Amino acid sequence: MIIAIDGPAASGKSTVAKAVARRLGIRHLDTGAMYRAVTWLALHEGVATDDEVALAGLARTHPVEFDYADGASIATAVRIGTHDVTAAVRFPEVDAAVSAVSAVAGVRAALVERQRELAGAQDTVAEGRDIGTVVFPSAKVKVYLTASAEERARRRKLDLAAQGHAVEQDEVQARLERRDTYDSTRAISPLEAAADATLLDTTGLSVEQVVDAIVALSRAAL
Ligand code: C5P
Repeated sequence: MIIAIDGPAASGKSTVAKAVARRLGIRHLDTGAMYRAVTWLALHEGVATDDEVALAGLARTHPVEFDYADGASIATAVRIGTHDVTAAVRFPEVDAAVSAVSAVAGVRAALVERQRELAGAQDTVAEGRDIGTVVFPSAKVKVYLTASAEERARRRKLDLAAQGHAVEQDEVQARLERRDTYDSTRAISPLEAAADATLLDTTGLSVEQVVDAIVALSRAAL
């Protein structure tokens, strides 16, 4: 069974998707980390973020791998080629370039194929932007998470502060909104809710409440 969780940046997807995967005892797949890994590799190799042919080549020839301990829901590491990029995929320079890289058709084709390989073999909670619309259009459960831009910026600012980065909330919000505009207006697989997705506005809800709602939908679909 595939549980598809899509939504804009900092809508709570990762926290919620991981908790749902743990509760159901199935795998979590972070497709954003895959676009981030290819972006990191492009920056590392000096490939320009508008060189579509070279970017697609990188994505095709360097499969993204996740390490899972036996029976674990959450990956302990993300790798691309010979590089462990678990920490690096969260660097601000990757954040700034990832939307441009993920708008490239050849990058998406390679990563969507890899996502189907990774999640096709077992029950998975997959999170991203196009899981319910493109990657797994027949997923049994589809959820589209949203929250107000202010709430998302507040959450991201807290995450950044916890990692030792002090950033103004206005700046965080401006960056999130820039990435969302880019992601939702691109020509290929834009960020959008699938017609049959359940919309969940998480503003003012606790993580627990959101997770309970998705677990209930998933159990009903079994
Ligand atoms: O989920 P996360 O914020 O880590 O995703 C990083 C970026 O990767 C997004 O802003 C988007 O550009 C891209 N992405 C995508 N399709 C997905 C997942 C992520 O285009 N399924």
